[in-house]
Amino acid sequence: MSKVLSVQDLHVSFTTYGGEVKAVRGVSFDLHKGETLAIVGESGCGKSVTSQSIMRLIPNPPGKVTGGRILFKGRDLLKITEPQMRKVRGADISMIFQDPMTALNPTLTIGEQIMEGILQHNDVSKKEAKQKAIDMLKLVSIPNPEERLKQYPHQFSGGMRQRIVIAMSLVCEPDVLIADEPTTALDVTIQAQILELFKEIQKKTGVSIILITHDLGVVAQVADRIAVMYAGKIVEEGNRREIFYHSQHPYTQGLLGSVPRLDLDGEDLIPIPGSPPDLFSPPVGCPFVPRCEKAMEVCDRVYPVKTQLTDEHHVDCWLQDKRANQVKLSSVSLT
Ligand code: SF4
Ligand code: MG
Repeated sequence: MSKVLSVQDLHVSFTTYGGEVKAVRGVSFDLHKGETLAIVGESGCGKSVTSQSIMRLIPNPPGKVTGGRILFKGRDLLKITEPQMRKVRGADISMIFQDPMTALNPTLTIGEQIMEGILQHNDVSKKEAKQKAIDMLKLVSIPNPEERLKQYPHQFSGGMRQRIVIAMSLVCEPDVLIADEPTTALDVTIQAQILELFKEIQKKTGVSIILITHDLGVVAQVADRIAVMYAGKIVEEGNRREIFYHSQHPYTQGLLGSVPRLDLDGEDLIPIPGSPPDLFSPPVGCPFVPRCEKAMEVCDRVYPVKTQLTDEHHVDCWLQDKRANQVKLSSVSLT
C-alpha cells in the first residue's frame, strides 16, 4: 500500500503559566492509501494535538511544533506557507470534530453550506455545485437530498448533522480525512451507523482515515491499524489483530481490559487506576511506571526505546526488550 502521509518524530509543546507542557514527544507513524489508522488514548495523551499539528491548527502561541516532519505528497507540511497550507486543508486533508454543530452555520441552509465548499475549491457552475451537493448527501445516506438541502442544521438530528459534516468534509475529495472523536457525542446506535458510513465511504472513495478516539470499542469496528498513545508518545502500534489479540504494552492491555466485550460497543471504559504523568517535566523513564504492575527498576531510569515485534507491530516497553538486563547492570542509556 502506498504511503499517503508520514509523520516523523513530531514534537509539540505549549507554553503555560506553569511552564512548558510537552504534549507530543517524538510521534512517528505512516498512513497508507485507503486505510484507517486509529490513534487511541486517554484525554491529554496528545492524540488531538497530533492531528491538529497535521492540519497546522495548533495556536501559536501558546502552542508550537518544536520538531519533526509531516510529509504529504512530497512536501513537509510544517515548511510550506500558510496560503499553501490553506489549499491543503479542505482540498487534500480535511478534518471533522466531535460536535457537528461547531462545524455548521445555524443561519445557513445545509445546501448553501455544502455548495459554498464546492464553489470555493472547484471551478463549477451553481447548478453543478447543487448536483454535487445532492450527490454528497446521497453518499452519506441522507434521504430526500433535494428537499433536505433547503433545511437548516437545527432541523436535523445529531446523527444526521454528523453525516452532513462528513459530506462537507468530502466535497473536495480529500486524500486524508481526520476524524477527532467523531461519534463521542452520539448515542450508541447512531455511533455504529456513522462508523459503518466511514467504511462505506472509504470503499467508494479510497480516502485514508485517521480516527482519533479514547474508545477501543470504536476502533474494533473500523480500524486497520491502531496506534496507542500515552503521555505524548506512541507506546504501541500494530494492526487491529495484533493490538486486540497480542498487545504487549501493559497500558494497551489495561485499555483492552476495560472493554469487557469487544463485540458489544457502547461499554463504558473503566479507567485504569492512577493518572498520566504531568508533561511539564516528563519522566526520563517509562511514563507508565506509576500505573504499571509490571514495572521494573530499569523502567524508571531509561525510556524503553521501540522494540519491533513483527513488521507492523512495535512497542515501547522493557518487558519486550532483551536489553533490559544489560541496562540494569551497566545503567547505560540506550536512547
Ligand atoms: Fe511497565 Fe516498564 Fe513496560 Fe513501562 S516499560 S509499561 S513501566 S513494564
Ligand atoms: Mg481530544
